[in-house]
Amino acid sequence: MSKYDYLIVGSGLFGSVFAHEMNKKGKKCLVIDKNSHIGGNVYTENIEGINVHKYGAHIFHTDNKEIWEYVNQFAEFNRYTNSPVANYKGEIYNMPFNMNTFNKLWGVFTPKEAKAKIEEELKSTNIDEPKNLEEQGIKLVGKTIYEKLVKGYTEKQWGKRATELPAFIIKRLPVRFIYDNNYFNDRYQGIPIGGYTKIIEKMLEGIEVKLNCDFFENRKELEGMADKIVFTGEIDKYYNYSLGELEYRSLRFETEVLDEENYQGNAVVNYTDYETPYTRIIEHKHFEFGTQPKTVITREYPDKWTKEKIPYYPINDEKNNKLYEEYKKLAEKENKVIFGGRLGQYKYYDMDDVIMSALECVNNQK
Ligand SMILES: Cc1cc2nc3c(=O)[nH]c(=O)nc-3n(C[C@H](O)[C@H](O)[C@H](O)COP(=O)(O)OP(=O)(O)OC[C@H]3O[C@@H](n4cnc5c(N)ncnc54)[C@H](O)[C@@H]3O)c2cc1C
Repeated sequence: MSKYDYLIVGSGLFGSVFAHEMNKKGKKCLVIDKNSHIGGNVYTENIEGINVHKYGAHIFHTDNKEIWEYVNQFAEFNRYTNSPVANYKGEIYNMPFNMNTFNKLWGVFTPKEAKAKIEEELKSTNIDEPKNLEEQGIKLVGKTIYEKLVKGYTEKQWGKRATELPAFIIKRLPVRFIYDNNYFNDRYQGIPIGGYTKIIEKMLEGIEVKLNCDFFENRKELEGMADKIVFTGEIDKYYNYSLGELEYRSLRFETEVLDEENYQGNAVVNYTDYETPYTRIIEHKHFEFGTQPKTVITREYPDKWTKEKIPYYPINDEKNNKLYEEYKKLAEKENKVIFGGRLGQYKYYDMDDVIMSALECVNNQK
């Protein structure tokens, strides 16, 4: 007889939602995490009374009413609306591209004038079949927006020049002809008051959690402890890279406490030129309308991934997707192990998607 019904590897959103639901059904769960804290990527740490998003800015947004109601049982959400600002060599523009942006770029006031300006730029581009990301960007939004707001940021994100990147990376660049700086189109959005860690704590209430516990360091023993395993780490590592290594993009964060009240006047400022080495600066207090005397900022640097670093983003190109499909075939043959979340399924998930996926996984359990 195993000691637990489920061993859940990873206390990120996928593992925590799964554990919460199974615990409610009376199943005995053990959650382990190699980190010294719960929450995975959504972990927030309180510094100077400010909830700091330790693994990058996390804004909850969804169009799914059920998921919105689901997360609201764990926390109250504020009315934060994501309206990032772009800083291009000291020029400030609103994002996403909307009438405020066009007014600042070209001095136009009406949607008709803005459309005419973009049309004029598109006409002079002469690109039929874009051969790379640069041509694709220019074809989608014209040279001015592309060069000031897309090019440098994208090149830093991928660590490659836009002319060396494939066109398919940017399929669409949404352009809005209204004065609206709200980044997301979803019906629901906000930040949990008190931070995301509180949500995870609530989900894991009454469940046994072991931190600083790496599955691979105690594999044999852990595997014998439960009837089923939910694995939310890297799927290729689970199979000891037997079919090859999947690739990721990593990030590096530099966090600073500043002895001033308000550093940049907005939660998110994107640096869209190529020369500034970071892609954005997050000022965490603005996610929760903080009035603390100090402030905490984080510079976010895209980083080449190696096995010692955190794999933030799967690189879902043709080569990696093909390799993942091979791992998935192995996973489908397992009757004791379920792979979930962004690393287990090698897929970029927003928070609402990963919650939905965990709930579906719960429903599929007998
Ligand atoms: C920079 C960034 C910004 C984002 N911003 C947003 C946003 O604004 N809005 C949004 O909706 N989504 C956002 N996301 C996506 C969001 O972070 C994910 O949807 C979510 O965190 C995925 O949860 P998960 O449980 O799949 O993975 P994770 O949070 O990565 O959890 C996996 C857990 O498994 C643990 N683990 C792995 N291997 C082992 C092992 N061998 N042994 C023990 N434990 C292990 C890890 O330590 C980790 O805690 C962002 C992602 C990134 C990278």
